[in-house]
Amino acid sequence: MTGYRCSQCGRVSLEKPDRCRCGSQALEAIELGGRGKVYTCTTLHAAAEPFEKDLPFQIAIVELDEGPRVTVRIEGNQTSAERQALPVLAADLAGKAVPLIVDGEW
Ligand SMILES: [Zn+2]
Repeated sequence: MTGYRCSQCGRVSLEKPDRCRCGSQALEAIELGGRGKVYTCTTLHAAAEPFEKDLPFQIAIVELDEGPRVTVRIEGNQTSAERQALPVLAADLAGKAVPLIVDGEW
């Protein structure tokens, strides 16, 4: 997973912006570590095509250690006990399956 770090203020973005919020255009591509905390999660029972056929499914917002938050779809429907036992989220990020390692309960 690639991110972009501002050389001026250190802010990390997932998408490469034309310039950072601080105004700097000095952005370097960095490899994100794939670790973070689950900010929130929920189970969807309604969705538009083409996701309707997969209902219900879980999504989460994970705050990566580098700062950016990513919305991910969690593969399989995990119970709360499984969530607490598994630090690894099998997640789908923009159509690409990525493992995310999360700290703490969620
Ligand atoms: Zn900046």
